[in-house]
Amino acid sequence: MKKRWSFMAMIRPLFVVLLVTAMVCLVLRFSNPQSTPPARASSQTETDGYKHEGVSNQSTTSRSEDMLLGGLLSPDFDEHSCVSRYQSVLYRKTSPHNPSPYLVSKLRNYEVLHKRCGPNTLLYNKSVEQLRTKHSTDQLECNYVIWSPLGGLGNRMLTLASTFLYALLTDKVLLVDHVTDFVDLFCQPFPGSSWVLPSNFPIESLDSYDVHSELSYGYLIKNNLISEDPKTQSKMLPSFVYVHLESSYIWDVHDQFFFCDDSHFVLGKINWLLVRSDNYFLPGLFMLSTFEKELSQMFPSRETVFHHLSRYLFHPGNSVWELAMKYYQSYVATANQVVGIQIRDFPWSLMSKEDRFNQIMDCTLKENILPHVTQHSRKTTYLNTDEMGSKAILVISLYRDYYDRMKSYYDSSTHVSQHVTVYQPSHEEAQQLKNESHNEKALAEIVLLSFSDVLVTSAWSTFGYVSYNLAGIKPWILLSSKVSNKVHPPCRRVMTIDPCFHTPPSINCKTKSRSKTKLTGAHIRQCEDVEEGIKLVD
Ligand code: GDP
Repeated sequence: MKKRWSFMAMIRPLFVVLLVTAMVCLVLRFSNPQSTPPARASSQTETDGYKHEGVSNQSTTSRSEDMLLGGLLSPDFDEHSCVSRYQSVLYRKTSPHNPSPYLVSKLRNYEVLHKRCGPNTLLYNKSVEQLRTKHSTDQLECNYVIWSPLGGLGNRMLTLASTFLYALLTDKVLLVDHVTDFVDLFCQPFPGSSWVLPSNFPIESLDSYDVHSELSYGYLIKNNLISEDPKTQSKMLPSFVYVHLESSYIWDVHDQFFFCDDSHFVLGKINWLLVRSDNYFLPGLFMLSTFEKELSQMFPSRETVFHHLSRYLFHPGNSVWELAMKYYQSYVATANQVVGIQIRDFPWSLMSKEDRFNQIMDCTLKENILPHVTQHSRKTTYLNTDEMGSKAILVISLYRDYYDRMKSYYDSSTHVSQHVTVYQPSHEEAQQLKNESHNEKALAEIVLLSFSDVLVTSAWSTFGYVSYNLAGIKPWILLSSKVSNKVHPPCRRVMTIDPCFHTPPSINCKTKSRSKTKLTGAHIRQCEDVEEGIKLVD
């Protein structure tokens, strides 16, 4: 017995050392899950906009605060299930925009609501039962807005964020129609609950609702099936209404009633709303006096609405994150500066690939984004490399053509003022629908663009809008024309980072008729890239 006791005494110090080591490892692991700290040379300097993310010289508390984006993100998640939620901050430029305390409290309250009313809870089941009665009631604790996707990835992210803001403003619960080529790309944004509409939801084919649907708000108003006037409003409102916010709403003034205050008296009473849109309609919510006070408290700066909402909602799932990280670490991480160039060619463009490449070079050389070359021959020498550092050009496009042109432009030059390397992660050659791996690549490329130091994106492209918003930097936009193959100037720097609302409503809410005058206001400006589009400014 004595021998055994003395053996225990001997190993006790060893046991304590092991325990302390294990705890230190756990703390480091917690504060930086699956981490390879960014290898960008520039990230080590104080003036480059990157944070000092060295694991050793920062306290866990301050790092955790940074990782939660100033309180924007909930701390109630398991980090390993969604690595990007905590690691994106290590790779992106520090956002100069902090969320307001009011927005943070709205989000935390929403998370509580979502958990209480989320799929398959008792309250959810009760609301589904009400749906079957075909009539709305004000007796329900949980009311919902379902988002069903339309268009490509960028369009979907913009409209989902717009719908989420609408849910926040109306105390409704956001659920996402399950579409395999979208929902699985992202982590769940709300702790302890899912945002995916259960597959046994009693109304099927939500993606088939369109302008002709008889349950659309516009149709119901047009046919006097419901009224916006509280005095004439019949007691029986439908339990489910479709809100048609696709750009085609511009053709029917009734669908645009959504952008008039009176409508929100009615829509607020409907237990289940379905929203479909390909249009970043979020700025339209700022035109409603119903939401004015809430919005100004949530977003004292209007220019950063999507910036905050997108950083809150959109965290790529682990497989997309791994795809982006592998590429980043293998190729881009060591460059001193990353220039992301996103080139989107729309079918209506009159420009050939050569015209477009010339436009890109006109823009990037004129704005000193890319280095000039002075002579063409077979051997490349780089001038001032030490002084200026190296530049990685990330060509993000469906087409390989632009990568080839950019690479040969720099490879065939004798005098380049800087060390330049050109990369392209993928070239799918065509947009694809319902293809998971295609969408994963697209999202990984949005992520890579969001790590850039400088961005050049394409006019009209929601893919570009989302990328520069996540990055939080103002890009130069390559302008485009529907009538010419030449564009002057080739590009323009955006004034604010909020995306463009391509098709704002043209309705006079007083007369409930089409308005010929463009929307104006102290907080509205014409977009840089879309003549009829508007964006929010401070
Ligand atoms: P928009 O059409 O430019 O407004 O952007 P969307 O993201 O809404 O739709 C375009 C879709 O085409 C994307 O979701 C991708 O599927 C695909 N796509 C367009 N450009 C690229 C690109 O540069 N890289 C990849 N991987 N896919 C792209």
